[in-house]
Amino acid sequence: MTNLQAKENVKLIKEQATNMEDLVALCKRRGFVFRASDIYDGINGFWDYGHLGILLKNNIRDQWWHDMVIAPPLGLDGKPLHIVGLDSSIVQNPKTWEASGHIAGFKDPMVDCKESKKRYRADHLLVYIPKNKENIACAFLDDELTKAQLKKLKKHCGSDNLDDFEVKILSELDCDILKYIVAPDVNIAGSLTEPKSFNLMFKTYVGAAATEDDVAYLRPETAQGIFLNYRNIMASSRIKPPFGIAQIGKAFRNEVTPRNFIYRSREFEQMEMEWFCPPDEAKRWFDFWIEVRHNWWKKMGVSSDNMLIRPHEKDELSHYAKEGYGTVDIEYRFPFTWPNFGELEGIAHRCDFDLSQHQKFSGTKMEYVDPQAPADRYIPHVIEPAAGLTRGMLAILAEAYTPDPSRPSKVYMKFKPKLAPIKVAILPLVNKDGMPEIAEKLYMELREYFTADLDIKQNIGKRYARHDEIGTPFCVTIDTDTLTDQTVTIRNRDTMLQKRVSLSKVKAYISEQLIL
Ligand code: ATP
Repeated sequence: MTNLQAKENVKLIKEQATNMEDLVALCKRRGFVFRASDIYDGINGFWDYGHLGILLKNNIRDQWWHDMVIAPPLGLDGKPLHIVGLDSSIVQNPKTWEASGHIAGFKDPMVDCKESKKRYRADHLLVYIPKNKENIACAFLDDELTKAQLKKLKKHCGSDNLDDFEVKILSELDCDILKYIVAPDVNIAGSLTEPKSFNLMFKTYVGAAATEDDVAYLRPETAQGIFLNYRNIMASSRIKPPFGIAQIGKAFRNEVTPRNFIYRSREFEQMEMEWFCPPDEAKRWFDFWIEVRHNWWKKMGVSSDNMLIRPHEKDELSHYAKEGYGTVDIEYRFPFTWPNFGELEGIAHRCDFDLSQHQKFSGTKMEYVDPQAPADRYIPHVIEPAAGLTRGMLAILAEAYTPDPSRPSKVYMKFKPKLAPIKVAILPLVNKDGMPEIAEKLYMELREYFTADLDIKQNIGKRYARHDEIGTPFCVTIDTDTLTDQTVTIRNRDTMLQKRVSLSKVKAYISEQLIL
């Protein structure tokens, strides 16, 4: 990269960082997302969802549930797939996590900085090592490269030309180099400790005695609840492989460095589906689900330009995925990862790892036996599309965020109408002459079908601005003409054009626009 390109990049990264700051501020100001325990100065890694936030999150959740469970896609043979729903417990028998490998393996390598007292994931620190082999190197978090950091490179390594550096991930380096590394937020070398493992599961105690024998864990993923119920579900519903079990719910991870707003939090929501299939069909289903899930995010308004499908490198693969066809991530270019991407959803071929492990640890048979051909018995292979609901919501918020200096609000949220928290605002032009009464009548009709907002106060410009900022796709205005000809204007959020529609047709007009 030339100096000019690096400068241009830094400019764009800064622009994205500003957009992100503005988006976080908008989320708080308008009631999408608040810092948890805000009045007590927050609690790192936890977030609360306000009225608009919960409406948006529920819309994404409901669409996933609809597209996976209620009306799943057509399968490889053109017939509808069978996927059933589940809502399993957050706390399960702790043996679950021994069998799943989370107690032994669910660890992130982390380093502490003795100077700043900050803690980092060793696989998230990029070390800039001068190619001229001078000793001092600088480490930065992978989503940051600001002017100040280029300055720091110049100060400690004698150059800010990125061509002069080799960039490596800290966890892949020999510990000998630690003494030459200047950590983020400090200005002397050698303050980082050696990477240590850190278990990400939240511990709790079940029962009043609260001894070490009563230790249990908050689930770090929703998937295991599905494997625990696989037999009950097979026995109680008339399904056989290939079929899926889907679940949406909270997951908890004591992340070492929760950051980037709701992207990496300690309490979050997942939307996971385990697809159980005969082992020899796994490859076809793996490819199938990658395509289906990628298209789904596009349907939700995430642009292809900001998404990519990235197969995991060999050294990134989880224990189970090494044996099979691996894992791919659907990644999104978040403002804070720009110009790089961050995981939105992972699609893994888990082989028969989970069912075999639970068979081993519980002594319960997990084989599927075909009643028509009892010699045909196998432990199904599993393809898992695992998406983050809260992380997905952030991608949808970031994608919708559209600066527009020509508008009074300076920005509008371009949600797909079906996902918008409020679908329609009903605005009497003035608070007199019978207009509020007509508005209220229309509101009472529409609210049965869509999330509607009756907004009477302030001048009309301010009301449009507010609804642009929260992404309301349609504003219906009752004006003087309404009093005589029973028509209203419907303003389109994106084009700002207004269309006159008869009062009796408003519901039909809006319904037609709510397709994905
Ligand atoms: P990462 O590499 O970002 O830590 P992961 O590979 O550990 O994620 P998975 O275990 O595959 O994530 O979980 C499935 C999905 O759950 C992820 O694609 C992501 O959308 C979401 N997710 C995982 N961890 C978090 C978190 N701490 N906060 C919010 N969402 C998360």
